[in-house]
Amino acid sequence: MERTLSIVKPDGIRKHILGEVIRRFQEAGIRIAAIKMIHLSKAEAEGFYAVHRERPFFDSLTDFMSSGSCVVMVLEGDEVIRRNRELMGATNPAEAAPGTIRKDFATNIEQNAVHGSDAPETAAFEISYFFNALEIH
Ligand code: ATP
Ligand code: MG
Repeated sequence: MERTLSIVKPDGIRKHILGEVIRRFQEAGIRIAAIKMIHLSKAEAEGFYAVHRERPFFDSLTDFMSSGSCVVMVLEGDEVIRRNRELMGATNPAEAAPGTIRKDFATNIEQNAVHGSDAPETAAFEISYFFNALEIH
């Protein structure tokens, strides 16, 4: 059994797709082990995306991520890291497969509706960034 961190990003919350994203997870048999709404500060967004600090889009990305509320979730299931990323689709919605969340709902490569951890190590860091053990069920 594996865990991953999912975020419905501020553009996704503004577009009212939270329910649809959760519906897709549940339809795929993915269990939600934790969930909460947050509003990241600029510094908290910078800490979350610290691996991208040197990228040219870092300042814009962290402005966007702190521009409104997000919903963060811990997802649980077999191969859930890979399966969540399949449901999400490619980073750039122009390249995302039909029927994926980003193809259906993303605005552009930055405002792309959802986040999902990309490996077990990043999932562990990202889950602990938002949740303590008592909040994961
Ligand atoms: P995420 O980590 O959010 O799940 P990802 O793993 O598909 O997305 P990363 O390469 O980790 O993509 O990039 C992190 C985030 O940075 C992207 O989801 C997107 O919001 C933003 N981003 C990535 N590439 C660009 C870019 N070229 N221009 C603007 N924003 C970008
Ligand atoms: Mg990533």
